[in-house]
Amino acid sequence: MDGFPDRDAHLALDAQDPLAHLRDRFLMPGRLLYLDGNSLGPLPKETPGAVEAAVRDQWGRDLISSWTAHDWIGLPLRAGRTLAPLIGAAPDSVVFADSTSVNLFKCAAAALAERPGGALVATKGDFPTDLHILQGLSGLTGAPLRLVDEADLDGALDGAAALVLTHVHYRTGRVRDMAALSALARARGALSVWDLSHSAGAIRVALDRDGADMAVGCGYKFLNGGPGAPAYLYVAQGRLAGFRSPLSGWLGHADPFGFEDRFTPAPDIRRGLCGTPAILSLTALQAGLGLFDGIDMAEVEAKARRLTALFIRGVDARLRGHGFSLQSPREDDRRGAQVSLAHPDGYAIVQALIEAGMVGDFRAPDTVRFGFSPLCTRYVDVHDAVERLDEVMRTEAWRAPRHGRRRAVT
Ligand SMILES: *Cc1c(COP(=O)(O)O)cnc(C)c1O
Repeated sequence: MDGFPDRDAHLALDAQDPLAHLRDRFLMPGRLLYLDGNSLGPLPKETPGAVEAAVRDQWGRDLISSWTAHDWIGLPLRAGRTLAPLIGAAPDSVVFADSTSVNLFKCAAAALAERPGGALVATKGDFPTDLHILQGLSGLTGAPLRLVDEADLDGALDGAAALVLTHVHYRTGRVRDMAALSALARARGALSVWDLSHSAGAIRVALDRDGADMAVGCGYKFLNGGPGAPAYLYVAQGRLAGFRSPLSGWLGHADPFGFEDRFTPAPDIRRGLCGTPAILSLTALQAGLGLFDGIDMAEVEAKARRLTALFIRGVDARLRGHGFSLQSPREDDRRGAQVSLAHPDGYAIVQALIEAGMVGDFRAPDTVRFGFSPLCTRYVDVHDAVERLDEVMRTEAWRAPRHGRRRAVT
């Protein structure tokens, strides 16, 4: 007895799991242990049919009339309405458009437009594209960019226009206190911009309640929208009138088909749109979002915590002496749906695990990351993942030279 429950105990947890039926709504390859739903959510069974219908019946048969006949034009907003309750947002405060990177640019630039002369503030080590976008925006506008440790945020917010933070940290899985940090930004006269890529669809998010000003996030991770799925953008209702996207494309116009020379922003959240929406991708995304229909996010969050807590227990019990150290918080309520372990040979270990049929990912320089997407991960998967990791370490399978060669995507 080493403190990690046996396989039958994990199967018993699955038998009691109120979300267990959702697993069956994904097409998962047979014996694969897929612990990477936080990077690319798996394929919902509904998606191929929905995309095929949009291609054959809508595009193929109804051609351009589909923009109104099938309400393609309303799809970015409809998808936003589907997502809104999952992230604690009022129905018409969310719209799908572009990528997370582009939406972050829009939001941070909108904050600069409202707070001219202000600085952009973010934390060191946050998700690269977020920092890179801010760097580009800073170069374009001359707004200073302050990259600080989280402990130094308070001082850095003097004269700030925007505080840009990820809600769940991609590397550690740590959850930030959205209410406290949004309030801190507001007290310093700055607008808060939250990136929900690693929290939406995995844990509870309460944008309106927690006083976030703006938010963005990704459609292809826990929302299972498919590779390169459109991203979303949220603007708090009280902030919408002041929100000006710098990418003032025609679909953000109050009357796109009025064909006016001058740009007038749409009165609603559609002012966050830029160009023509990617209808086929949005169709796949809607199918992914459909899996959350009728699902209580409190239950999703509770399952994420139990799955990750069990995995940590397994690592503690079975993998001592193999050089791993836990990078994710031990406190359940401070952790998203992932567990990160630091290991100096992390890259090769992840490659060896993939060869053994267990997919996690590696984040340089030394993070081995496992995602436990609550909709598609079973408790028994946690058990088997600990066993497989234990085996790869005991047999030293990861030492094979082929596992050391870097690929373009890790
Ligand atoms: C995945 C992720 C992104 C992705 O941005 P793209 O524009 O879709 O490439 C952005 N931010 C965070 C925090 C992410 O985890």
